[in-house]
Amino acid sequence: MGGTPYLRLARACESINALSGRKDKVAQIVKLLQEVGPEEAAPAILLLIGRVAPEGDEDKLEIGAAAIYQLLEEAGQTTLLASEPPTILDVWNGLREISRLRGPGSRERKLAILRGLLAGMSDLEKRWFLKQLMGEMQHGANEGLVLEAIAELTGASTDEVQRAFMLLGRLGDLVELALRGGREAIKSVRLQVFRPVRPMLAEMCHDLEQLLKESEKPMSFEYKFDGARVQIHVRDGEVRIFSRRLSEVTRSLPDIVQVVRGFSSSFHEIVLDGEVVAVDETGRPMPFQELLRRFRRLREVEEEAERIPLKLWIFDILYLDGRELLDMSYWERRELLEKLIPAEYLAPRIVTSSIEEVQAFMRRAMEEGHEGLMAKNLDSPYRPGRRERLWLKIKPADTLDLVIVAADWGHGRRMGWLSNYHLAAYNPETGEFEVVGKTFKGLTDEEFEWMTKRLLELKISDDGYTVTVRPRIVVEVAYNEIQKSPKYKSGYALRFARITRVRADKAPEEADTIQRIRELYERQFERKRLPKEIMIWRLRG
Ligand code: AMP
Repeated sequence: MGGTPYLRLARACESINALSGRKDKVAQIVKLLQEVGPEEAAPAILLLIGRVAPEGDEDKLEIGAAAIYQLLEEAGQTTLLASEPPTILDVWNGLREISRLRGPGSRERKLAILRGLLAGMSDLEKRWFLKQLMGEMQHGANEGLVLEAIAELTGASTDEVQRAFMLLGRLGDLVELALRGGREAIKSVRLQVFRPVRPMLAEMCHDLEQLLKESEKPMSFEYKFDGARVQIHVRDGEVRIFSRRLSEVTRSLPDIVQVVRGFSSSFHEIVLDGEVVAVDETGRPMPFQELLRRFRRLREVEEEAERIPLKLWIFDILYLDGRELLDMSYWERRELLEKLIPAEYLAPRIVTSSIEEVQAFMRRAMEEGHEGLMAKNLDSPYRPGRRERLWLKIKPADTLDLVIVAADWGHGRRMGWLSNYHLAAYNPETGEFEVVGKTFKGLTDEEFEWMTKRLLELKISDDGYTVTVRPRIVVEVAYNEIQKSPKYKSGYALRFARITRVRADKAPEEADTIQRIRELYERQFERKRLPKEIMIWRLRG
């Protein structure tokens, strides 16, 4: 009987858990990799970081907590016949089988597999195996540490390892490759048609004016679509489509496949990056309420899924007829796209450094039902899997009218001023003002001075750090997101709050209420989640 025992993995988990230093944890992973065979490497590493399936595969075990407790109890009660201790591959294959089981009798079958594995395990193995099942490893071993371990093991640089990982898409494949071919193999990884790469990601832009000021060159501004990311691979008319998480979704998107075939005669091989958006009969992105209605119906009538029309938008090209284009500039890639892809499928965009033009373009995007804009650096390469400032999301800010209930004394340049304002929403039920955030952003020096004077007139108390004031001053506050937060009694916190103006025309009781914040929070949650859920649902195939 060959194969590394699962006990070896459980021991690695135990050691990693006991160590606190990053380097020490990495060393444990290196050691593990030195001991397992190349065919075991992927399962070992994925199990180690708490995964039960390779990227791109369904990784739901669908084992309820009740079933796990049942197993635990059984394991404690019965002296099970001593079975063979499982190997790493036994555990991996068992879990893979469990995730494929569906339908009647599957619960019993799943339990039987788990019982079989548990029967041969020591206490240490059981402990880590159950953590695995519950998705709660909590020992701190993650993808990042594994990449470091691979670099250390092979002598490749972290950049080389990172690049290979993004191009291969799957951590397991990378680990196996590293064990088989070392640094040379890692360096020679190339983008391949029909093997999805990690899509490039974007950071949030909080200040458009600042962005334009900082950027020496004009930037490209594209519509930001609110749909699902797709990576389209074509070879001689054969089209395959992958989701953001690298699952193949071709079968669920026959309409998109048709569209791509329609323009695929001008090349042999291509890899495109884009987004599919649910639209109504007129081609307009579906408004939220509409999606909600369809979603409810969809739950009952599965076939309806086919009837959600989708529109394809393409915004990048990664590969063309044998050439990897990742290091080409955005500008050149976009030019290529314009030659190859009909304009109706290309993300609308402008190149500018004028804030007025960007704002007008943003209005147009919003009017047409999109989410905002994406700013792209003209010289930027395509960086698979990276979230950097080469692409920036710009969403129109939301604002709330809030009341200042306290302020902290400033430091450094703001010494002598009250500069960090505690912002509160009104609760008409209790008549109280509940803090939902703090900010020192948005005011000019003159405004700080004015505000300090005004707040001191309203002072209730001063502990040398924070001045509590009577709730009188209403300010308009822009923010990017409302989050649930234990930090404030209200239970909510605004992300990236900044004051946009003083609302001298408003009385404190006319400020936005905590109930409204709750409502906005819920809506924001639905807006974000729901369309994605539908898309994911359809994209699952
Ligand atoms: P977010 O999911 O909010 O981090 O925003 C990034 C996502 O926006 C990307 O992963 C794409 O799915 C999507 N997106 C929409 N329009 C564009 C565009 N023009 N360029 C790049 N990504 C876009």
